[in-house]
Amino acid sequence: MQEIESLAKLITESRRIIVFTGAGVSTESGIPDFRSPGGVWTRYDPEDFTIERFVSNPDSRRAFWRMSAESGFLARAEPNPAHYAIAELDRLGRLDCVITQNIDDLHQKAGVSSEKVLELHGNMHWVVCLGCRRRSPMLDVLPGADEEAEAPVCCECQGILKPDVILFGETLPVVTLKEATRRAQMCDLFIVIGSALLVYPAAYIPTYATGAGARLAIVNLTPTPLDHEAVTLIHGKAGEVMSSVMERVRLRLAGDLS
Ligand code: NAD
Repeated sequence: MQEIESLAKLITESRRIIVFTGAGVSTESGIPDFRSPGGVWTRYDPEDFTIERFVSNPDSRRAFWRMSAESGFLARAEPNPAHYAIAELDRLGRLDCVITQNIDDLHQKAGVSSEKVLELHGNMHWVVCLGCRRRSPMLDVLPGADEEAEAPVCCECQGILKPDVILFGETLPVVTLKEATRRAQMCDLFIVIGSALLVYPAAYIPTYATGAGARLAIVNLTPTPLDHEAVTLIHGKAGEVMSSVMERVRLRLAGDLS
């Protein structure tokens, strides 16, 4: 496939690559995205996941924790070939960083060092107390997934516990967003993998890269608003596509292809 070759060529020509990922990079690990058929929004009301409702309404809080408990498989999910391909870019010395909207920890689990993963929406493996700000591991407090299960509270101050992820209505972590913007403006290749590019402000970041002269590649199952700006556009499954791309990258680096 010509696009696979074209992305492999872009990678071997680049020195500072940023990979920007969304829920689509993890669907092949068994974690559903939000908007696709069968995604999370077909089973839960997004209105329950605003910070305002979470703080003020115990029923919304219970619904959120029920969803978190159901997705206990986040802890069991394993990286797929797309995560491993990105980790390989790191080992090859080409990866500047991963900027991710995901909360699943799978880039780190695949071998990318934590310092190189900028998490825009937090990490579901941690919870934070809204009273005393104590952070603790999710697995220590995760309640059952049954309807009656109560939302957990802080063992120190009885405050409201919130998974350490960004809910609707919350601002993104300023330092991380600033760092992501700075790095985007310095990369030479920006690869989007598995994001609909519809959630802002994260979806602005690719435009900071292209605005500063980087080339843009997009690997996503469905069209995105930035497809027209991509030098290489591949509509396909992240794991399958990225495995093929890395095979071609290895051949190119070994000098078997020019
Ligand atoms: P999204 O749900 O809006 O879009 C995901 C995109 O990935 C879609 O365009 C879909 O067509 C595509 N996709 C699905 N499977 C794919 C595959 N195998 N290969 C390639 N593309 C695939 O997700 P988003 O843009 O990331 O934004 C929604 C928000 O949901 C994010 O901000 C994120 O915080 C959160 N989220 C995270 C996870 C996770 O951590 N794994 C899961 C669900 C939602």
